[in-house]
Amino acid sequence: MAERKVRVRFAPSPTGALHIGGVRTALYNYLFARQHGGDMIFRIEDTDSNRFVPGAEEYILESFKWLGIHFDEGVSFGGEHGPYRQSERREIYKKYVKILLDNGKAYIAFDTPEELDAKRAEIANFQYDASTRGMMRNSLTLSKDEVDALIAEGKQYVVRFKIEPNEDVHVNDLIRGEVIINSSILDDKVLYKSADELPTYHLANIVDDHLMEVSHVIRGEEWLPSAPLHVLLYLAFGWEDTMPAFAHLPLLLKPEGNGKLSKRDGDRLGFPVFPLEWHDPKTGEASSGYREAGYLPEAVINFLALLGWNPGNDQEVMSMDELIRLFDLHRCSKSGAKFDYKKGIWFNHQYIQQKSNEEIAGLFIPILKEHGVEAPFEKVVTVVGMMKDRVSFVRELWDVCSFFFVAPAEYDEKTVKKRWKEDSAKCMTELAEVLAGIDDFSIEGQEKIVMDWIAEKEYHTGNIMNAFRLTLVGEGKGPHMFDISWVLGKEETVARMKRAVEVLK
Ligand code: GLU
Repeated sequence: MAERKVRVRFAPSPTGALHIGGVRTALYNYLFARQHGGDMIFRIEDTDSNRFVPGAEEYILESFKWLGIHFDEGVSFGGEHGPYRQSERREIYKKYVKILLDNGKAYIAFDTPEELDAKRAEIANFQYDASTRGMMRNSLTLSKDEVDALIAEGKQYVVRFKIEPNEDVHVNDLIRGEVIINSSILDDKVLYKSADELPTYHLANIVDDHLMEVSHVIRGEEWLPSAPLHVLLYLAFGWEDTMPAFAHLPLLLKPEGNGKLSKRDGDRLGFPVFPLEWHDPKTGEASSGYREAGYLPEAVINFLALLGWNPGNDQEVMSMDELIRLFDLHRCSKSGAKFDYKKGIWFNHQYIQQKSNEEIAGLFIPILKEHGVEAPFEKVVTVVGMMKDRVSFVRELWDVCSFFFVAPAEYDEKTVKKRWKEDSAKCMTELAEVLAGIDDFSIEGQEKIVMDWIAEKEYHTGNIMNAFRLTLVGEGKGPHMFDISWVLGKEETVARMKRAVEVLK
């Protein structure tokens, strides 16, 4: 058989914000598709109208746009296999439900919820399957005339998959290897409901994967239990030759490693579990997102890529292009991946260092504005270059470098006690004069003259520098002293020194 073109899909149900685990699933699909020159499809699985949440689809699209994950076809992208929203494909599913019914692979069942409850009460561990379907009200136990009459009367029904008992179902999973399960543990799943004229997830999912020529189904571990059912559906339709390969990704675990990652873990430990901030339209509840929390999309991608996969060596920082080159489904782990959110912070730090100072300055300027600071772009770029190695978030730059933009309004008491000596006022007045007289106010220019002055006066370098820092910064922190005075410029430096002398005496 000729090699199939790689075609993968990401198929979320629009039931709310996209969980970060879903983002990782989409990312792995994307890396796989790009690596193989394949296509990536965006399909919306909205056959469960009860769980539909307005805005979810737009949210998901915006998330991928921000993250740089591109789709080749699907909802909002177009393509030849549409429509890509399952609620718009009713007629297609009806046709395939009929094929299964006509071939005796499925049957119609009229049992009401009350009747099903009664059976559950009567039979321990009741399951609608080969052992019980003969006792129920369905097209296998009723005559054709009775069935037709019930439908004509407008009675609601479902179509169930007729699963043959006691067969080994083989699921070949690219990550987990061959999984064999016995068909007797499966129930006759509902594939279609007359009430809303819509298929259930299982039928719609595999019909669409088939029609959209999906070659690889890469999805979260939570869908592993449905894989045998899906294999049986492919066989029932006679589509074994085009059945996609499966890969079920490892679960994302709590940072401590016990149990599945949940939104509550994020709330408890202070990290987002959604790509973007989300406002639930029903409850009004707001949830934080990576974007608004100040993460760079590249950092989020890199962080997620390594949750359940590694390149086989200890390389950690990888761009999207490198990830596309290196990604390998066979290197995905079977066991769950601890959601080490601190690693996410570490990646953000790395990417801030990697980005140009101009780019980070562009992100910092709105934050400066929030603090009422308008500064020339060149100055912001310089300050960013000096200070960015100290931060993991652009927002934190303000905490470490606000003094470059705003003169100290007060002087830290502890630092004053420790650093402002008896002769500091006199020394700082002298130093201000020395600095005012310097023509070459470059870092080196200042350093040479000030150091000569200290030597000549036989002052203590440490004491002078500490007091100098206090006058410009207002406390004991900051980079090299002459870096600060150079950025501030002569006039501002001298003015700050004079003011400090006045206030501190
Ligand atoms: N609609 C399913 C979801 O919301 C898709 C599962 C699959 O990829 O088959 O996750």
